[in-house]
Amino acid sequence: MIILVLNAGSSSQKSCLYSLGKSIPDTTPEPLWEAHLDWTVAQEGGILTVKSNDLKQKIEVKERETALKVLLNTLVTGDTKVLENLNEIDVVGHRVVHGGSKYSQAIVITQEVKQAITDLIPLAPNHNPAHLEGINIIEEILPEIPQVAVFDTAFHTTIPDAAKIYPLPYEYYEKGIQRYGFHGTSHQYCANRTAQILQQPLESLKIVTCHLGNGCSLAAIKNGICVDTTMGFSPLEGLMMGTRCGSIDPQILIYMMQKYELDAGTVNKILNKESGLKGVSGISADMRTITNAIADGNTQAQLAFDIYLHRFKSSIGAMVASLNGIDVLVFTAGVGENSRIVREKTCAGLTYLGLQLDLAKNNGDPVDTNIAADDSPVKVLVIHTQEDWAIALSARSCIAD
Ligand code: ADP
Repeated sequence: MIILVLNAGSSSQKSCLYSLGKSIPDTTPEPLWEAHLDWTVAQEGGILTVKSNDLKQKIEVKERETALKVLLNTLVTGDTKVLENLNEIDVVGHRVVHGGSKYSQAIVITQEVKQAITDLIPLAPNHNPAHLEGINIIEEILPEIPQVAVFDTAFHTTIPDAAKIYPLPYEYYEKGIQRYGFHGTSHQYCANRTAQILQQPLESLKIVTCHLGNGCSLAAIKNGICVDTTMGFSPLEGLMMGTRCGSIDPQILIYMMQKYELDAGTVNKILNKESGLKGVSGISADMRTITNAIADGNTQAQLAFDIYLHRFKSSIGAMVASLNGIDVLVFTAGVGENSRIVREKTCAGLTYLGLQLDLAKNNGDPVDTNIAADDSPVKVLVIHTQEDWAIALSARSCIAD
């Protein structure tokens, strides 16, 4: 089965192609072809990077309207060609950021699903329009091929009311203001992979998964089911992130708007784009730059790191409370997978849980392995998140059903 995965964002389009036999391999296979279209790096237009057949090609793309067609064309033409015809694709899986409270699992895209994704645009203004654009273009080029939506919010639909509903007048919940949570595909993949790595049933584990990328969120998972998460109505809630502030006193917004006469758009930009590591350090949203600057004695970078860590540890505490215990702490995504220092400093503050890190293992570039000390009652895993692979598997099982 040939599966195309499309992961459309506001400023990029990631895509990959998997070829699967009858059985699912134990380890994630390399995609046959990978493409990444980035609108942020060039002065004008975008840069499309395609990897296949052991080579990497960069192509300039001028117009947004035709960009996806240019991207798909690299599957069937030139040195990057891996298919004779686009009709060889059996299913297209789309990452869709917001599925609201309606979709608790992946679903074959119909007019009704498209309408639901459209209706949710106000809740995901940067993402849902990009997903719809991708869905429509595939529909136009390959009308016969089934498309599947895999929602970032789906894994969190099991969160109980007490964690889901905000203490606002109840009518706002009835109007859709609630905790939705995001990064669900990554959290779910990591939970399943945890059970696989530890060779224990998922149903027997209390897991806290820490997705630390540019965006950061935690999930509390019991019996394989998500019971709490740090992101909320939007991806702004919860942890301090690269450029997002995470949870702050909501009165601050009102004060900023009144005192400094800022409009909603300006406040939105400050909270989402100019805060977090970038806002406090004044130098960067990238954890590598922050830790390098700390080594050079930059005190603002140190402060940003300290706040990040403080909030991270408190939020882990909150997730552990939701689970009434913890068996496994999982680090994943850019920072979680790569920053030894973040893992070390975090775990040093969790010894009250009995958790003990094996420093040598932590420093040894771990991937999909346990880095806790042998006698630590809480395991600490570093897992390479594989969202595209998880989307491909969901798309496959959706059309097999
Ligand atoms: P996204 O949320 O965009 O998918 P990623 O999961 O790729 O992001 O994470 C990106 C972040 O990972 C970067 O901003 C950077 O801070 C961090 N990162 C990547 N490599 C390292 C590293 N070696 N050490 C520390 N942080 C890293």
